[in-house]
Amino acid sequence: MGKKEKEFQIKWKTDLPYNYSIGKLAVKYFEELKENKRIMGSKCPKCGKVHMPPRTVCADCLVEMKLEDMVELSPRGTLEGFTVVNYPFIDPTTGGMRPFPYGYGIFKLDGADTYMMHFVNETDHTKFKIGQRVEAVFKEKREGNIGDIPYFRIIREG
Ligand SMILES: [Zn+2]
Repeated sequence: MGKKEKEFQIKWKTDLPYNYSIGKLAVKYFEELKENKRIMGSKCPKCGKVHMPPRTVCADCLVEMKLEDMVELSPRGTLEGFTVVNYPFIDPTTGGMRPFPYGYGIFKLDGADTYMMHFVNETDHTKFKIGQRVEAVFKEKREGNIGDIPYFRIIREG
């Protein structure tokens, strides 16, 4: 056969900014976080399932949910799972390395039927227990994004 071709490689980085519509329910969700420190879910008008984060369509019965189907949820919930992350990780919200270790939980807010995941301000895995109560901590100056709740904290009630 012919001469072996020489390989070469080109590397470059490029920005690919794009805009997309997040939908009326997500807009309301972020407005309520920012303006009123309220966490909103969407309640299916057919089966009554409360989705958190709010969804436009119920995954169980495929019924559309509208703004009037949004319901306020408690900022408190119950821990169903957790992890402590101990490795470097690029934070997609900043593009930089996220400081570690950090705690991450999966929980159900009171009044919700679906789970959410978020940061928990605990890095000692021995201090996590399934069934623990957690509470949203809101930023003082909010911007209308999920960063308005930087983390949940473990609480003791009663
Ligand atoms: Zn439903």
